[in-house]
Amino acid sequence: MLATSTLEISAKAYRQNIRYIRSEIGPTPTISAVVKGNAYGHGISQMVEIAEKAGIRHFSAFSSDEAWEVWEKSKKGSEIMILGMLHFEELEELIRKGISFYVFDFERLEKAIKISKEIDIPAKVHVEVETGFHRTGFDWSQREKLAEMLVENSSFISIVGLCTHYAGAESVSNFVRVKNQITRYHEFKDFFNHQGITFKTYHTACSAATLIFPETIMDMVRIGIAGYGFWPTKETFFAKLNSLPKGNKNPLRRLITWKSTVMSLKTVKTGEFVGYGNSYMALENIRLAIVPVGYGHGYSRLLSNQGMVLIRGQYCQVVGTVTMNAIAVNVSKIKDLKIGDEVILIGKQGGKEITVASFSESTQMVNYEMLTRLPKDIPRKIIP
Ligand SMILES: *Cc1c(COP(=O)(O)O)cnc(C)c1O
Repeated sequence: MLATSTLEISAKAYRQNIRYIRSEIGPTPTISAVVKGNAYGHGISQMVEIAEKAGIRHFSAFSSDEAWEVWEKSKKGSEIMILGMLHFEELEELIRKGISFYVFDFERLEKAIKISKEIDIPAKVHVEVETGFHRTGFDWSQREKLAEMLVENSSFISIVGLCTHYAGAESVSNFVRVKNQITRYHEFKDFFNHQGITFKTYHTACSAATLIFPETIMDMVRIGIAGYGFWPTKETFFAKLNSLPKGNKNPLRRLITWKSTVMSLKTVKTGEFVGYGNSYMALENIRLAIVPVGYGHGYSRLLSNQGMVLIRGQYCQVVGTVTMNAIAVNVSKIKDLKIGDEVILIGKQGGKEITVASFSESTQMVNYEMLTRLPKDIPRKIIP
């Protein structure tokens, strides 16, 4: 079966991104590759293969279903960590497989202890503390009860991590909030250490924190977006510019290329409307290529009359509305175009490029959102 478009994922670009992150964090901290959201749209199974070949041995998933996908694909016995959702009825299996998970409330901690006792295998838990993100994590006021439970059950569970997540390290406007979070995290750490509780890994940093708050780099960094070759925000890039190698060449490389083909060609006469409604009227005779990718494939409707694609190395504009399964692009300037010719939706062709940022900016989406909206059933192909 052939799909209407394909995603190519560059293993070489990933190796470059990891090399850059490694140069930022030094030789010792573990890099956990964050593969939530179907690996930011890149495909979990493809990314596990690429990352393990690049030397990564630690993965972070949001939920247990993603963790299982990593587990099935991993060939190197990599560590797997669940940052968010799991179902209590899966706990036993997760513990048996050695998959670690965040605990951020007493309910989950109690369940984990109970099952660890029953099956006589220690659950690997990461204690998440609330430092100011206000989503998940134990509150400062819960620290004493928490410490008591950890000490009491230290022979049944394995306390592998103390962690937190920053609320917007990618934006300068959050500077004070992030600094306060760092302080609060250290207060938690000191408190636990004082109670005789130590953790195997202290980890707090996402991509943005790793790149612009070096004090957040501890035993492990949890790298999502930067691994896929994107700056968390433009601000992060500018904040980093000065420390970049001469010439300010962007050290991060996009992994993803999104390709389709010309499905059909058609001429539209002056004054005729293209597609649904009347959002586009041909002001002259134009030639259109119909490309079989629409909002059902993750190509946002907001790109109607806005988006660009590359065909034969030239930018061609989307005309009319993006429909569920197709777009029309103006190819009047291209000679001898044929059905089946390559169309680049994201990526390079003939020295020109369509970036994810150009996409996201015209749709008010962040990189993260555009990427994770790419449907799972578009085939992903690894390019070495
Ligand atoms: C998503 C996530 C990360 C990675 O964030 P990036 O900005 O993509 O690097 C790290 N930690 C947690 C808890 C996350 O949810």
